[in-house]
Amino acid sequence: MSSQITIALSKGRILKETLPLLKAAGIEPAEDPDKSRKLVIGTTHPHVNLLIVRASDVPTYVEYGAADMGVAGKDVLMEHGSSELYEPLDLKIAQCKLMTAGKVGAPPRSSGRLKVATKFVNVAKQYYASQGIQADIIKLYGSMELAPLVGLADVIIDVVDTGNTLRANGLEPQELIAEISSRMVVNRASMKVKHKLIGQLLDQLSSAIEEKA
Ligand code: AMP
Repeated sequence: MSSQITIALSKGRILKETLPLLKAAGIEPAEDPDKSRKLVIGTTHPHVNLLIVRASDVPTYVEYGAADMGVAGKDVLMEHGSSELYEPLDLKIAQCKLMTAGKVGAPPRSSGRLKVATKFVNVAKQYYASQGIQADIIKLYGSMELAPLVGLADVIIDVVDTGNTLRANGLEPQELIAEISSRMVVNRASMKVKHKLIGQLLDQLSSAIEEKA
């Protein structure tokens, strides 16, 4: 129905920081998404529903039009790599850095292929290709910090906020790949068909972001 829009969000950091922005745009969840087991949550806005999905699935839902809009970290969008999504708004939340990291004081690699452990496989391939460095990329789903310690990899690529997690594991940040924040993404067809409602919402969100700054 063209008078309804759905926004895909993930639980945790993004949800927590997006809710105040949505509230400023007149959208409050009908129930607490962190406590509810429901994956479709109505809101105080008569035309807006929220979909609760995994962070890395947000771009997929929006790309296929299963959600009209979504909030996703730039890291997730870079890894997803679709040009099919509009990215009209930087929400300036959940800010961090996508970085390489290695063991504290480890000498720079002098020969052979670099072993890189990460869940950002596509980002890693592109990054090292652009640097002209030959790298073997090893896909991991979590606890990346362990990889250099046990000799699985020379370096990792991960998001870093305070750097405490790296330090606690004897690692240090090395190269900055990208500054990260959460973005509002919009399905291309929805942008056309539901232009009025989506345009209004983007305007309200962008005012809320400016006020917060
Ligand atoms: P740190 O503050 O560097 O110790 O960050 C702890 C962990 O939280 C990192 O290893 C990341 O996995 C995760 N993290 C930090 N900031 C973000 C963010 N903005 N989005 C997603 N994950 C994050």
